[in-house]
Amino acid sequence: MDVTLGRPASAQLSAATTVVGVIGDPVAHSLSPLLHNTAFEVMGLDWVSVGFPVGAGRAGTALAGAGALGVRGLSVTMPHKDAVADLVTSRSPLVELLGAVNCLVEGPAGWRGENTDGPGFVDALRHIGEFDPGGRSCLVVGAGGAARAVVAGLAGAGASEVVVVNRSADRALVAAGLAGPVGRAGEESDAALADLVVNATPLGMGLPAGAAEAWPVRPELLRPGQVVVDLVYHPLVTPWMAAARDRGALVANGLGMLVHQAALQLALWTGRDVPVQAMWEAAQPAGAE
Ligand code: NAP
Repeated sequence: MDVTLGRPASAQLSAATTVVGVIGDPVAHSLSPLLHNTAFEVMGLDWVSVGFPVGAGRAGTALAGAGALGVRGLSVTMPHKDAVADLVTSRSPLVELLGAVNCLVEGPAGWRGENTDGPGFVDALRHIGEFDPGGRSCLVVGAGGAARAVVAGLAGAGASEVVVVNRSADRALVAAGLAGPVGRAGEESDAALADLVVNATPLGMGLPAGAAEAWPVRPELLRPGQVVVDLVYHPLVTPWMAAARDRGALVANGLGMLVHQAALQLALWTGRDVPVQAMWEAAQPAGAE
């Protein structure tokens, strides 16, 4: 199957084709259309996913236009995740908690806001490392949009503790609060006792393995028996992942979260089983670019 352009060469678009897409700025680099279109091909659906470049402040106009054009669903990326939460006609409980939307589902009453980032992260953990956060101690570095989604996802999956470590202490407290009674702001040294350690900062992005940099968590705090996930996936193996692997931890990059949050979006839009494995296979070489 040729999915190099994000849609199989054999596919024929027509006036009957159902359209979904991703809104963001920039959006041309987004892997979401590739993941969606790979799934549509395997599912045998006459659907297509495209990128819609929508600048900051224009999400409301974009939603109105997309609704009028019959667009069935939209993935939402930077810089719109927070703004769109105020534009939808209904919100899932996770959107209420996070104040952020990564998925829009079109319905008779207008756009429904969903957020599949945290549940997608948890699904990826189960897929990659057969790691179930239920009853486990987790530490998240970062307190931005990705970290907050992961914190809420881990708490929702029954983690016994979710510790947030962040450069700005006030933001760590806010993010930890999303985990309710199991959340707390902590220190880097807490990583030594965590079952799962997640980097949700851009540290390591674009750096080749072996490059000198500031670590999200010093590798000497990591050990065998831990799962270590870097949400970064450029490069596919970050210097921190390589160091954690050298320390004996099971490591994974952020492609899993990307694939599984997209799979959950597709399930919301189509109501069908989604071919996650085919999406994984499409994402691997694309993530290496
Ligand atoms: P964001 O909202 O801008 O938050 C960035 C976070 O990183 C903040 O907590 C910030 O700390 C911290 N940070 C930034 N530079 C730092 C530095 N030099 N040293 C220490 N901390 C630093 O970004 P985001 O949307 O959450 O994204 C975070 C990362 O996750 C990015 O690398 C992004 O590519 C990745 N991501 C991956 C996926 C996926 O599907 N795999 C999805 C979303 C995001 P302060 O609070 O102190 O500013």
